[in-house]
Amino acid sequence: MGFEDHELIFLGTGGGRVLCATQHRQTGGIMYKFNGKQTHIDPGPGAIVYLNRMKIDRLKTEWIIATHNHTDHINDIPIIIESVHETLTKPAGILISTEEYIHTLHSYYRDLLVDIIPMQAGKTVKLTNHTSILGTKIVHGNTQGFGLIFQQIDAKDPSKTYQIGFTSDTEIYDGFGEIYKDIDILIANVLRPSNKTCPRHACVEEFIPALEIAQPKTCIITHYGALFDPPWSDGNIISQQMTHIQESIGKNTKVIGAQDNLRLKIPELLGS
Ligand SMILES: [Zn+2]
Ligand SMILES: [Zn+2]
Repeated sequence: MGFEDHELIFLGTGGGRVLCATQHRQTGGIMYKFNGKQTHIDPGPGAIVYLNRMKIDRLKTEWIIATHNHTDHINDIPIIIESVHETLTKPAGILISTEEYIHTLHSYYRDLLVDIIPMQAGKTVKLTNHTSILGTKIVHGNTQGFGLIFQQIDAKDPSKTYQIGFTSDTEIYDGFGEIYKDIDILIANVLRPSNKTCPRHACVEEFIPALEIAQPKTCIITHYGALFDPPWSDGNIISQQMTHIQESIGKNTKVIGAQDNLRLKIPELLGS
């Protein structure tokens, strides 16, 4: 089954150091295809392996996005940059990331790219005539970073538009829910279950009030850390945690717990 337009494929749903090291959950990031274009968001360790396993055409990736300079988000960027080339003599791929990460990237990889776009909260970048991205604020220690809202116009039917947000890694700060208010789909990195708080990250109980404010049509939870389901935890509590979020926020938002290699067709998430 080919990678369809306006589709998401989760090449990973694990977050943090322990899941990177164990690959108990994959950490390959998220593939997102729209209007015939393909983007790879946060290709952490194993991204190239999982991309190939899902038989996604690596040459079709146009944008490589790294939301911040942490291993679970950037580890496979060099191989992804190389992999989008049929031949190294012709530049390919556009990297979108923080100044902090861009400066760490060796000139060999930089020179392979068509363009490098520094991104930050509050900045809008037009990717095509039908797609722009807005950088959103994250609070993630002293690491530069951004979340994203994609603003999409369907190239085949311009009357159809939607917005999809990616929170990246962040604490829940004042105003977080408002930033994602009225978007259609929110993909949220929630590293910890219940009220198990973690510096620089969100846990379920912190996230629920923000989700009540944002009220997207669909919210997809991902980037599970080491307390959600590994063998050394108290068992797999993901579905129980997702049910709890769903019951807490009511029926206006559909809550989905992502799983590795999950494929989601965006029109179905929009109810259209
Ligand atoms: Zn992370
Ligand atoms: Zn991080």
